[in-house]
Amino acid sequence: MIKPFIPELVYIEPRALEFEQGKILHDKFSEMGIEIRETTSHNQVRGIPGANEFQKYKNAKNTLAIGVRKTLEFDTSKPSAEYAIPLATGCMGHCHYCYLQTTLGSKPYIRTYVNLEEIFDQAKKYMDERKPELTRFEAACTSDIVGIDHLTHSLKKAVEYIGQQKYGRLRFVTKYHYVDHLLDAEHNGHTRFRFSINADFVIKYMEPGTSPLDLRIEAAKKVLAAGYPSGFIVAPIYVHDGWEEGYYQMFQKLHDQLKDVDYDEENLTFELIQHRFTKPAKRVIEQRYPKSKLEMNEEERKYKWGRYGIGKYVYPTETQDKLKDTISAYTKEFFPDSTISYFT
Ligand code: SF4
Repeated sequence: MIKPFIPELVYIEPRALEFEQGKILHDKFSEMGIEIRETTSHNQVRGIPGANEFQKYKNAKNTLAIGVRKTLEFDTSKPSAEYAIPLATGCMGHCHYCYLQTTLGSKPYIRTYVNLEEIFDQAKKYMDERKPELTRFEAACTSDIVGIDHLTHSLKKAVEYIGQQKYGRLRFVTKYHYVDHLLDAEHNGHTRFRFSINADFVIKYMEPGTSPLDLRIEAAKKVLAAGYPSGFIVAPIYVHDGWEEGYYQMFQKLHDQLKDVDYDEENLTFELIQHRFTKPAKRVIEQRYPKSKLEMNEEERKYKWGRYGIGKYVYPTETQDKLKDTISAYTKEFFPDSTISYFT
């Protein structure tokens, strides 16, 4: 049975203790009896235990670093939002295809930022620049933020902060069901709460360490009942034996479990994202998950030029069209009034 994330080891930067959130977290982990080590900066979280690289990687995913976010410039986050709001990086999940394996490189531990006021002030600047246009912030670009928020509550603070902003909207996605503390947040309808869902095959073989689909849907029901604008991200859409049936069953299950919940289906969104990989990601995945069933055969894919000169391999156009048409048809069959935000 999956349990809420508790780190085995905590690193803290001394500067983090100058912030209220830093003090709260320090005291919390001390009381929990977790070993806390001081570190001078992000780059000096060293000595993560482990006899080899593989062990170190596993242990890093059980390590939490508490730090101060120095770069206050936000990255962009297309197509779902204008900016990525940096609350945390890293994740304790072990999804084989996860792009954090390459974007976080040699620092796969989980890191939470304590200078929340500075981060929110920066968000305000972006909102002011764009108003009266709305500015959307994505909080799950570099971590599964819900999966650690039962410990930090920084996401909850962000939800309540954006709840007060006329020109701001927040969104995030999760594969975890630990949502209870977020249900009473004053979101004012400004936060879109999404769950990542997939066919049984993908969840069973490629998403170790995350919540099972049933628990994600149970959590989605609570979130809908709490009045959050909500949605589902079907990702990565992955071609496997029986994929059509697998995704159909997923929609059927979602429909059956949501049918008794009172919510506005017109405000329900679906985002559809096909599987993709880069060459560097493939190398890392093969090292870390050598027995994975995830197929990454360049010859069976189409190359798409990407940012920073690193292209990605997506499905060939014909397969993409089939995936898009099939999953869109299922979405419309089971949730006719919902919106498909995009397929990519
Ligand atoms: Fe990556 Fe999300 Fe899986 Fe975490 S839950 S490992 S962020 S894909």
